[in-house]
Formats: sequence, structure tokens, C-alpha cells
Amino acid sequence: MKSISIKNHKIEESTFTLMAGPCSIESKEQFESIVKFLKTQGVSIIRGGIFKPRTNPKDFQGLREKAFPIVKEIKEKEDFLFITEITDVRQIESLMEVADIFQVGTRNMYNYDLLKELAHINRPVLLKRNFSASIKEWLFAAKYLSPNNQIILCERGIRTFETAYRNTFDINAVSYLKQNSHLPIFVDPSHATGHNSLVSDIAKSALVAGAHGLLIEVHNEPDKALSDGAQALSFNQFSSLIKDLKNLSKSLNKKVL
Ligand code: PEP
Ligand code: MN
Repeated sequence: MKSISIKNHKIEESTFTLMAGPCSIESKEQFESIVKFLKTQGVSIIRGGIFKPRTNPKDFQGLREKAFPIVKEIKEKEDFLFITEITDVRQIESLMEVADIFQVGTRNMYNYDLLKELAHINRPVLLKRNFSASIKEWLFAAKYLSPNNQIILCERGIRTFETAYRNTFDINAVSYLKQNSHLPIFVDPSHATGHNSLVSDIAKSALVAGAHGLLIEVHNEPDKALSDGAQALSFNQFSSLIKDLKNLSKSLNKKVL
């Protein structure tokens, strides 16, 4: 695997990187409390949705431009790397001011014009798999990001006939891509399951299958979340997951970062 450096954070074969945070940034208080908690857990890459692509247009669409001053203020106080989703080329300029990693969501994996623009930014891009994309299509989408050479793939579950959970985690993809691609492969166990009771088991299985890290949703009050509350881990659930991951990682010779 080709290692990637994001400021002083290194993603490499011997590391397991945690990117965690709320699905959406909802307020300064909410985001600040989650950032502070995650920092106590040793997490240095925080996620937080600003522009939210929602299936139902009546659902919360993210704070959008209103989130920028919140992120800037908290970034000044707390030292962390920030990952957030881009949904339109017109957001590049403003997101460059806050995002250390750009996330391309499942709905935009096929947005080739967006990918072509992200090919020329000086920031890593985490490319999620479209929920019905074959691995071949996903890897072609990653090629659209070239010459950007800081690309991370993220398996986030695919759509199958199964309706008991939100998506089906394709664990084969992790092992397959380790053998057939030089790109780091991450797993998003939150969208892959849709239920917080399933998230920790799937997160641990991702580590064992050889993934290079996780993108995971955590909320200070999951029941009150404005998006994806059902799949968000509470602080207690996240603390216990991180303990398990650290224990498991020892026998795998990996370091949880
Ligand atoms: C998200 O990370 O909150 C998100 C919208 O993910 P996906 O694109 O995988 O649905
Ligand atoms: Mn989400």
C-alpha cells in the first residue's frame, strides 16, 4: 500500500486510522462537545457533515455555509484534522479553508466532473463506493482523481436484497482491494449497517480483514441527532470499541491512530 501523510498523520500498512465524528455538524455546542470527547480518546481526524446529500429533500440538509465559522473557531482552539463531504464543484474554494481531507460520498462516486476537479487539489480525497458500484467501476472512479496521489477508498456497504439493515457490508472488498490496488482501504461501519448495535462488530471485523482505518459516526446525543442518529455510537459505545480495537491490533501488529 502506498502510504499517505496528512500533516503529521501517517496512513500506512502498519497503522489503523480512526476518523470519527457526527454525521452532520448541528451547532457549535454539539460539534465542540464531540471534538473534545474524541480528542480524549486519541482521535486526531474528525468528521463532520456540512453539505448533506439527503434522500428526502425535506430532511436536514446540513448547516451548509453556517457551519464554516463553527469549524474555524473550534479548529483554532482544538488541534485536529477535519474531513467533510463535498457535493458540488462550487464548494471547493470554501472547503479548502477548513477541510484537510475531502470526502466524496456514495451518491457522487459517479460525478466525474467533480472527480476531475478534485484531481487538482492539494488535499487527500476519501472516495466512497457507490452503493451499487462494482469494484471495477469504483477503481475507475479513483482513476478520475489522478494526478491527485492521496486517494483513500472507503467501503460503506452496498444495496442488496436484504432489508434487515440499511446496507450490506462487503467485507470481500477489503481483502480484494488489498490484493488488487495500492490504495488504502477504509470502512464506514455506520452507513454499512445503519444500526449502532451492529457498528462495533463490523468495525472490528474490518480491522481483522486488513482495512487501514475506519470512518465512523459518533454523537453526543444519538437520539436527538438531526441525521443518522440510529447508527451513531454514543460516547460510551465508542470508548469501548476503541479499547477492543487497541487490544485486537496488538496481535495484528498494527497501531491504532
Ligand atoms: C456520510 O458519511 O454521512 C454519508 C452521507 O455517507 P454516504 O455517502 O456513504 O451515504
Ligand atoms: Mn451519515
